Amino acid sequence: MMKKVVMIGNGMAGIRTIEEILKLAPEQFEITIFGQEPHPNYNRIKLSNILQGDTNFDEIIINSLDWYKENHIQLYIGESIVKMDVEAKCVISDQGRKVEYDELIIATGSNSFILPIPGADKIGVTGFRDIQDCEMMIKSARQYKKAVVIGGGLLGLEAARGLLNLGMTVDVVHLMPHLMERQLDPIASSLLRAELEAQGMNFLMEKETVEILGDDRVTGLRFKDGSEVDADLVVMAIGIKSNTAIAKNSGIYVNRGIVVNDFMETSAPHVYAVGECAEHREIVYGLVAPLYEQGKVLAQRICRQAGDPYAGSITGTQLKVAGVDLFSAGEIFEDGTTKSIMVYNEFDGIYKRVLTRDNVIVGIVLYGDTKDSTRLFRMLTKKEDISGVSIFQTACMGSEASDDIAAMPNDELVCGCNGVTKGAIVEAIKAQGLTTLDQVSHCTNAGRSCGRCKPMVSSILAHTLGDQFDAAAAQKTSICGCTTLSREELVAEIKAKGLTSVKEVMNVLEWNNEEGCTKCRPAINYYLGMIHMDEYKDDRDSRLVNEKMHANIQKDGTYSVVPRMYGGVTTAADLKKIAEVAEKYNVPLVKLTGGQRIGLFGVKKEDLPSMWEELDMPSGYAYGKTLRTVKTCVGAQFCRYGTQDSMALGIELEKKFERLDTPHKVKMGVSACPRNCSEAGIKDIGFVGIDGGWEIYVAGNGGVDLRPGDLLFTVKTEEEVMEMTGAYLQYYRETANYLERTSKWVERMGLDHVKEVLADEETRKALNELIDQTLKKYIEPWNEAIQSEEIQDKYYTKHIVAVGSESK
Ligand SMILES: Cc1cc2nc3c(=O)[nH]c(=O)nc-3n(C[C@H](O)[C@H](O)[C@H](O)COP(=O)(O)OP(=O)(O)OC[C@H]3O[C@@H](n4cnc5c(N)ncnc54)[C@H](O)[C@@H]3O)c2cc1C
Ligand code: SF4
Repeated sequence: MMKKVVMIGNGMAGIRTIEEILKLAPEQFEITIFGQEPHPNYNRIKLSNILQGDTNFDEIIINSLDWYKENHIQLYIGESIVKMDVEAKCVISDQGRKVEYDELIIATGSNSFILPIPGADKIGVTGFRDIQDCEMMIKSARQYKKAVVIGGGLLGLEAARGLLNLGMTVDVVHLMPHLMERQLDPIASSLLRAELEAQGMNFLMEKETVEILGDDRVTGLRFKDGSEVDADLVVMAIGIKSNTAIAKNSGIYVNRGIVVNDFMETSAPHVYAVGECAEHREIVYGLVAPLYEQGKVLAQRICRQAGDPYAGSITGTQLKVAGVDLFSAGEIFEDGTTKSIMVYNEFDGIYKRVLTRDNVIVGIVLYGDTKDSTRLFRMLTKKEDISGVSIFQTACMGSEASDDIAAMPNDELVCGCNGVTKGAIVEAIKAQGLTTLDQVSHCTNAGRSCGRCKPMVSSILAHTLGDQFDAAAAQKTSICGCTTLSREELVAEIKAKGLTSVKEVMNVLEWNNEEGCTKCRPAINYYLGMIHMDEYKDDRDSRLVNEKMHANIQKDGTYSVVPRMYGGVTTAADLKKIAEVAEKYNVPLVKLTGGQRIGLFGVKKEDLPSMWEELDMPSGYAYGKTLRTVKTCVGAQFCRYGTQDSMALGIELEKKFERLDTPHKVKMGVSACPRNCSEAGIKDIGFVGIDGGWEIYVAGNGGVDLRPGDLLFTVKTEEEVMEMTGAYLQYYRETANYLERTSKWVERMGLDHVKEVLADEETRKALNELIDQTLKKYIEPWNEAIQSEEIQDKYYTKHIVAVGSESK
């Protein structure tokens, strides 16, 4: 019997622990994970980058839903554990699900600390902890202009920088006289303040907030000294509070966090805690580096393997704000037993200070030039004797970088977050023939979290490869860790070598993992289909889970059924059929979707084929990387403002392009006049009727990265609309990276470039010929499934998935 491991919390520390367990004992445990957030594990550190507009949510997902499936992990997302019974060894979720465990990991992280003051519950007040907080701030910035961030620490300043980028004016309120006073001394702090003021932040120092003002929504803050400040949005970034309630309620010993010993064991047998919810030797850590160390120790414990106990960590801090280069670790203040070594170049804004005691470094503050940070941090953590050692290096990185790297000892930490040393990186480069930064990151984890060490990793790569180093190639992003090939190279190789199957691609192009992974397999399958058009036999098992199942998996493991309704137009007969099927199969939720379709939610996997058979309607592909929906307004047929027949065009577009494989989902909208009732301005392709023709908008997006569409062309007839759309879609199919939305693709390619390509009649014709040829191959997936017992048995029979083996 396999042992059951249950984990509460699906965040960074918890999942790293599971990754370590899978490395040590891949087939030993049946793993179940509950995560309160409705997402797979994502890089919380990068929330600051999302807010600052440098990345989007898809890019910060660390473990995709397919990763869990591949590792036979039963994942319940959007589901919280509300009770633990350590006697009966089981947990109970807010949906009444009861799961037994042999070993239980609590990895519930922490919450933002919200000041317990009047008005803290008003609309427009948020913490900065998860993607929901980020989305709320991004949304507020579209409507409101004035933000106040409470807290001049790391999180507060990163939030403030993000809000500035979103176009808000930002006041930062801080209780103390200096920013980041726990990490910086007054000189470094004042340099930081000057830089951030130059960037546009306004600071209200030594202010204690006592009340949030406003009716339902916040309008301002009142301070203890009686002064007030206006605010449309308030972000509280004053600290975190470990999430310990369920542990406490089940009788486990809790102090500030869930108290653990050096093996991450709590006071209850077979119950462990890891991450920000855990308190080890009276310390609760709030940075990933120590949490990942904890995860390693815990994995060894659970796998019953010998290993060093966790002895605590010394952490180093950096701030992820452009234009600010700072590092801090250890003690900050002199205490009579310390001596400091200091360099202060006020002119260039460079300040370096090292605190020493008994010839060893006990504290580091660097501002403006942090290139000494890894070396000094090593000296601090290893308690090296510094007598006779030159503490600060004056040379800059760049031409002399190579010498610096040569002088760097092998045990010097390069990636603080993931604990990766120079020696480990050099060994991986040599042993595995690595040539790009991306590969080094995949193989060693260096640079996988906050990303600050990437320049150093690049220098190590250059130094290790010597003459073989190709700077341009080193920056190349391979499609995943299984290969060194970029998307362009992969596509070129498939064409040049005439490769025709996913397996063949991986074999011939010498994938370093013969099964590939959840990133590369769907991408290869897509590129093969795009290149070989009608000849390619789709590899269904290489698709992402929703496409493989031809249904969207929901957070409780059920599926949705969304029949096609061309242009959002339906009939009484179809509505009757949908109603009958919904009734017969006890469908818990029937809902109109944002794309004008009817969705049946909460469907059991084994009911899918018969429901589709009874519906006898085409699949709406609500799950696919393909054309999702064409939303239409009623248009000239019924609306007095309408200048064009939007419904007819919408139906024609949807009928032509349905089922087409595209790099990512594609949504369309057709409005018959500029009032734009179908929201065509935020679709991948939107059509707006005007007198005598149509305006075609592209690259709009209505999701997290809200983006209005750009006008591509104005055309006169529906034939021109169809021709331009075919050419645009085919060009997107051929040149986008797999999983790149049209909005990002257009930004990357440049709108002018796309216009130039499509303006050429010959090119448009050639692109349309290719898309027409491709479109011929598609068949209705549910018809196929209904007629094939093999498909039904393979995909829709009830399976209970266990670790290491899949049993029915
Ligand atoms: C904006 C921001 C920037 C940051 N920047 C850095 C940085 O630069 N460097 C750095 O090292 N660290 C940084 N951090 C901190 C780092 O992200 C955290 O230390 C790390 O995510 C903690 O991991 P964890 O697994 O303990 O908690 P989390 O990642 O918070 O995961 C815990 C998960 O458990 C879930 N959960 C809680 N209770 C339950 C329940 N009862 N049932 C089911 N699920 C539950 C939560 O919803 C959450 O998803 C940053 C954090 C933020 C918010
Ligand atoms: S977009 Fe114009 S034509 Fe269409 S429904 Fe709205 S107002 Fe009427």
